[in-house]
Amino acid sequence: MALYQLPTGTYETRAAFAFKGGAFRDKRRFAATAVLVRHPKGDLLVDAGFGADVAAHVRAQPRLARAPYSAARTASDQLDAAGYDRSRLSGVLLTHTHWDHVGGLDQLDVPIWINPGELRYAAEARDGRVFRTVSKGHEIRRYDFTDAPYLGFASSFDVYADGAVVVALAGGHTTGSVIVFITLPDGRRYAFIGDLAWQLEGVTRLAERPLLMRKLADSDEGQVRQGLRRVAALAGRMQIVPSHDLGSYDGIAPLVAR
Ligand SMILES: [Zn+2]
Repeated sequence: MALYQLPTGTYETRAAFAFKGGAFRDKRRFAATAVLVRHPKGDLLVDAGFGADVAAHVRAQPRLARAPYSAARTASDQLDAAGYDRSRLSGVLLTHTHWDHVGGLDQLDVPIWINPGELRYAAEARDGRVFRTVSKGHEIRRYDFTDAPYLGFASSFDVYADGAVVVALAGGHTTGSVIVFITLPDGRRYAFIGDLAWQLEGVTRLAERPLLMRKLADSDEGQVRQGLRRVAALAGRMQIVPSHDLGSYDGIAPLVAR
């Protein structure tokens, strides 16, 4: 088993909009990064990053949400450059269905692993539009949270039934937002928390999103706050990776081109 990061690009957001107490002059590059989990029973990508159509996906956002972005190679291109055997890829497991996490599905012809709550959210929400476009033609692999409570989260889904990849329902940002917990055989542990926080300060300082962004970006701010507290309590035991915090991926190897 192994873990790789596939950075597909970044977009610019001011810290003042990302978390309470962030400075306006503090420009952050938000990561759009897919994570490849290699597992003997089949590999998974956690999120898909930017796709080939990133320009159109940005244009599909409300004016206020559009940001200057810089696209790198897509996850699909990085897999090919590394000589990756696509038949090993069982699907893309989504932390949630927002555009900056799903765009890369436009080049990845594999099943989408998603829970029913998030699928419903994506079908109805205004910000599910990019997902509705890029998910067309994909097999949908629905999973439920039928496994035991996990690290303070009430319900979970143990993907390989071996504790290596455990998905917990966090909710709050979107109805079916999840945290993907990964434990490598050497004991290293990770929590990919999606957009529960946009930057690590959301966890390390419990600095939640500013009021306006909570109202605009979250479906249940109380649930986000509860999730952040739970994750903060785990920070000493594992590497916490908010999807958009570039530095939080440190130590996770890139997929090397052959
Ligand atoms: Zn996001």
